[in-house]
Amino acid sequence: MDLYEYQAKELFAAHGVPTTPGDTARTVEEAEAIATRLGTAVMVKSQVKTGGRGKAGGVKFAPDAAAAAAKAKDILGLDIKGHVTRTVLVSEAADIAEEYYVSFLLDRANRTFLAMASREGGMEIEELAVERPDALARIPVDALPGVDRAKAAEIADAGKFPAEVRDQVIEILVSLWETFVAEDATLVEVNPLVKTPTGTVLALDGKVSLDENADFRHPGHAAFADTEAENPLEAKAKAKGLNYVKLDGQVGIIGNGAGLVMSTLDVVAYAGENHGGVTPANFLDIGGGASAEVMANGLDIILSDDDVQSVFVNVFGGITACDAVANGIVAALGILGDAATKPLVVRLDGNNVEEGRRILTEAAHPLVTQADTMDEGAEKAAELAHSALSSQTPGA
Ligand code: GDP
Ligand code: MN
Repeated sequence: MDLYEYQAKELFAAHGVPTTPGDTARTVEEAEAIATRLGTAVMVKSQVKTGGRGKAGGVKFAPDAAAAAAKAKDILGLDIKGHVTRTVLVSEAADIAEEYYVSFLLDRANRTFLAMASREGGMEIEELAVERPDALARIPVDALPGVDRAKAAEIADAGKFPAEVRDQVIEILVSLWETFVAEDATLVEVNPLVKTPTGTVLALDGKVSLDENADFRHPGHAAFADTEAENPLEAKAKAKGLNYVKLDGQVGIIGNGAGLVMSTLDVVAYAGENHGGVTPANFLDIGGGASAEVMANGLDIILSDDDVQSVFVNVFGGITACDAVANGIVAALGILGDAATKPLVVRLDGNNVEEGRRILTEAAHPLVTQADTMDEGAEKAAELAHSALSSQTPGA
């Protein structure tokens, strides 16, 4: 999960990385009130989860509260690379003498952690990384010893930080590494880390990505979840522990195992080419245990998607055998009752497939059609979705 800048700075502050005071606003009036309370010149900063806000006009200086209101008016609603600004951070403006760059990240390719540091930070860091890679130091970090003062000094020296800020940068690197470890982050980045004219070093921007696999260790991280930006069906699926991603097509997909579901998406999209161009409406992996409850939760989410015209259930029986899956489907349709309104194509294969098919045949649910193969199921589901769409738009 990527955090907003203001959330990243909350974590920085909690672990002793110095930053500037500020608060978030969702209206012009709130932004003005924060600037009045701070009583200093402020920065008004778009809170969107993408970089390059400065270049896109999403970061503005305001000498006083009235100017802060005017800047907030410009920035609220501003679209930056498809991300609409709903919140601005109003923070005390620092004077900048120099801009630096520091980060820690999980380096998957090299199976280690990596520190990156440069005395030449700021908005041109991407260009710097490409044009003068030597100016951006990359130092592997061994997870066990981590970053103590000696390691932090190695990083600061590799980044060629000036002598007068070396000690402060070392302290900041140690605190930033502590943030990285304690919060189970996969990235912590400060760009720019600045020196003020009086020689103080401060984090003026922050980027943090948290490892969701460690959420169980961090009940507090739930507060960072972006419920507003999230699709409501995805939020509902997450609450039920389902692995669901909304897509923009018309054929609902349920399968077990990410690999099978992904191939199902391909096969359905291919079949759709001959049926009005219908495509998958979602990704939904119900995992290994296709119990009645899991199946009912999955179907419930898919059927509450208005875009869905037909559903393709594609399950390969393994540890959970096909008879259990078939019973799950029948029970799920029973639980859903009248809420189940769209045709279902079911393809079962694998462990105990004969019994699974017999159960579905015997239940003879009016919405369910069985298919013997994945291709046949995809074809049928695409055809059903297309004919449902055609009957909704007369003359089409
Ligand atoms: P980004 O463009 O999304 O990375 O947003 P940043 O928060 O990094 O802001 C962009 C640029 O605005 C920075 O590189 C700074 O040059 C400038 N900036 C940010 N905060 C301040 C501040 O407190 N004072 C001044 N003078 N400039 C700032
Ligand atoms: Mn930045």
